Amino acid sequence: MQTVSCPSCGAEVNFRSHASVMAVCEYCNTRVLKEAGAVKDLGKISSVLEDYSPIQIGTSGALGGRNFNVVGRIQLRYDAGMWNEWYIVFDDATNGWLGDASGQYMVTTLRAPEAVLPAFEDLSPGKPYQIAGERYMSADVRTAQCIGGQGELPFKVGDGWQAKVADFRRGEQFLTIDYSDAGPPLLYTGIGVTLEAMQCQLLRDAEEIKRTAGRYRGKLDALDCPNCGTQISYLPGLTASLVCQSCNTQIDAANPKAEVIAIGARAEKEYFTLPLGSTGKLGNQDFAVIGVMRRADDEGNGWTEYLLYGSRNGFTWLVETEDGWSRANVLDQWPDAKSLESQSVTVDKADYNKLYDYNSVVTYAAGAFNWRVQVGDHTHVYEYKRQQVTLAAELTTSELGWSRSTPVAWDQMKAWFGDALKGEGRSSADEDAGKERYKRSAKNWIMGMLALNAIPLLFNFGGSIGVTIVAALSLYLPALVLDAIEEQKKK
Ligand SMILES: [Zn+2]
Ligand SMILES: [Zn+2]
Repeated sequence: MQTVSCPSCGAEVNFRSHASVMAVCEYCNTRVLKEAGAVKDLGKISSVLEDYSPIQIGTSGALGGRNFNVVGRIQLRYDAGMWNEWYIVFDDATNGWLGDASGQYMVTTLRAPEAVLPAFEDLSPGKPYQIAGERYMSADVRTAQCIGGQGELPFKVGDGWQAKVADFRRGEQFLTIDYSDAGPPLLYTGIGVTLEAMQCQLLRDAEEIKRTAGRYRGKLDALDCPNCGTQISYLPGLTASLVCQSCNTQIDAANPKAEVIAIGARAEKEYFTLPLGSTGKLGNQDFAVIGVMRRADDEGNGWTEYLLYGSRNGFTWLVETEDGWSRANVLDQWPDAKSLESQSVTVDKADYNKLYDYNSVVTYAAGAFNWRVQVGDHTHVYEYKRQQVTLAAELTTSELGWSRSTPVAWDQMKAWFGDALKGEGRSSADEDAGKERYKRSAKNWIMGMLALNAIPLLFNFGGSIGVTIVAALSLYLPALVLDAIEEQKKK
């Protein structure tokens, strides 16, 4: 370890790693550059936003038999949220990054690319790319800005520094290409990790997080709507966007100033089976409902999604449709899919068959979300099913994410939430709403096929329409049979 004096305030500044180029003075936020045995004052950097991350400088852990220490951090924000990149140094003096976004963690290390990497401009999420000899699916492609820094860092970085990065996934493997510098892009490879599996030590405990999170504003976990004064719960650093449930005003929570993005109009009070703020014990895990969102598909069928957060358990979703309830979690380990148009995807050697894909639009949102959500947001959803388990890929123009959901019985919901859960659950009459679902999904397929065939049809009025009709009927007829069997089973 090398200790120098801060050129601005004289305090001790430590460099534990030889690879560190600069360090942020913890007393005055001056960026101290280490250069040929001398130190240079690079000016100040913003303090990091005190967020909900349990990680801090000094946290240690082990990965692949090697111990590491967290020595620095940059905080980045992009148009839909923010995340932390923790700079880690292994005990063999190599280094890497521990990415920390909405309670999902990944460790990446620099590696030399064997072939030319794709250009940033040519990337879009949800597409397969051949990188480092393997097929990866692009997950997100984004430009982000540094909003704060702390500790030691391996390159010169300051407020407003722009990161141009693309993430790729393959099973639990993770790959980042960093296009931030003018030179050739840098390739980082790694894996999704959990803090438990890495046996992390010196994590911040729940009490400390609660005490410090959001400290910069003097508010802990709620803020008053700047438009109407209604109190809105939020989680600094974890929730990127807030939507007031009384007046629909949208607030940017990934910004220390909590600026209003759009003033809303006071709306009719919406009815929800699980109101905002409801708390429940899912198994032995405590969760609270922090966000509620309604979405609809192309045909206008609607459903409600509840975002839940537990300080020890991260985020989880409960989804209410006319067919009942299900619980969904974001997948750390991505399915193996050649493309999103594949008829099946594989996870842990189990195949999931494609049900359908459809467009969805957000029709209502209220509360706190870990990305910036607004009414009118479009997503294309691909669903795959194996027995009771559904995998869904949700694709936007900048991001692809996977989730896994399983059905939850009304009795289970009641056991989890007790009186917080409103309504009576589904009566047998409601259960009929679930019928004809095979037909509905087949119909989506047919619409898709007709759309795909519409282009050749413009050029060739002859052959292809017949093929489409035959193919459409071959999907639709078995669906009618399946619905009839379902009917039969109920009687
Ligand atoms: Zn200083
Ligand atoms: Zn309001």
